[in-house]
Amino acid sequence: MEIRSFYPQPRLLMGPGPSDVSDRVLSALSRPTIGHLDPDFIFLMDEIKLLLQYAFQTDNALTLPVSAPGSAGMETVFVNLIEPGDKVVVCRNGAFGERMRENVVRCGGHAVMVDSKWGEAVQLDQLERALDDNPDAVAVAAVHAETSTGVCSDVQAIATLADKHNCLSIIDAVTSLGGIPVKVDEWGIDAIYSGTQKCLSCVPGLSPVSFNDKAVQRITARKHPVQSWFLDLNLVIGYWGKGSQTGGKRSYHHTAPVNNLYALHESLLMLKEETLSASWQRHQLNHQALKAGIECLGLSFAVSADVRLPQLNTINVPEGVNEAQLRQQLLNDWQIEIGAGLGDLAGKVWRIGLMGHSASQPKVLTLISALAACLV
Ligand code: PLP
Repeated sequence: MEIRSFYPQPRLLMGPGPSDVSDRVLSALSRPTIGHLDPDFIFLMDEIKLLLQYAFQTDNALTLPVSAPGSAGMETVFVNLIEPGDKVVVCRNGAFGERMRENVVRCGGHAVMVDSKWGEAVQLDQLERALDDNPDAVAVAAVHAETSTGVCSDVQAIATLADKHNCLSIIDAVTSLGGIPVKVDEWGIDAIYSGTQKCLSCVPGLSPVSFNDKAVQRITARKHPVQSWFLDLNLVIGYWGKGSQTGGKRSYHHTAPVNNLYALHESLLMLKEETLSASWQRHQLNHQALKAGIECLGLSFAVSADVRLPQLNTINVPEGVNEAQLRQQLLNDWQIEIGAGLGDLAGKVWRIGLMGHSASQPKVLTLISALAACLV
């Protein structure tokens, strides 16, 4: 069998991620690779930290991209903050809340679950009851934008409740960062992680994380060493933690994914040039355009309007329509990818992502036309 170079067909990525990556970011990716301790690269790292602080709206010094996808960002937060025997209140209203629970358990912790139905936001009264009943809990974990359902939870209120009960707040912002407001300092979030392949429209494979002083104190005061060598922030800090401009010297921890970091720098720069508020507005505007088209086609949303994410739209599959066949038709005939339902929603919904570079009016119009053609 002859194996040739791989040239993927261009697609419109309108599923739950990855989202479309702009030519500008792709061209940054192809710039010459340099050493991960090259002074020029060290300078780039400083700028990435500044740009991430802007994206997260934080002054947290410990803000960096983990060299692995969003799941590794999630794991970084849990393995560093949770020790064996710790009790963590985990809010679960979809697939990623469940993944948080698994992380707690694998750290040797005890997860107290606050369950909401798939398609609903985290119920704050239930969370408050769980915190009252578990005064020994050390952290509260919740997903801001549940990608499995398209639901937004009020993580500002969750962080406030956590703080009131002397718990750290751990927030998943994989799908929210850049698409809807995420205000780490103003909302009092202690630890947060995200991904690059959603509303930042960068290539997959990096996970921005940020920790405030309270979280850092917990990491440095650990009784047990972090069980993961690679994700142990006490070690990663030697490479990412210090700023060269503040006189800190960076030393080898692992070989950073140099070109991916060029791409992240470019996508964060694009976000800064656009500004966060304009990006949030663009996601909202395109969601409204999609909604108008979806309703014209006689389709409906699976999630109520008050908790609906603009960047992840969960649409009910109408009776008599084969959901997998329609997705296949969109891919084959229109080169458009949308997502299937997960877990409880498998076979019942489509997930349409309007994330980052995919949140644009021409793309929404193309998708609506394609859906109309497939549904006749
Ligand atoms: N958390 C949420 C909310 C996600 O949507 C995802 C991925 O879709 C993840 C975590 C895991 O990210 P990754 O697939 O980059 O590992």
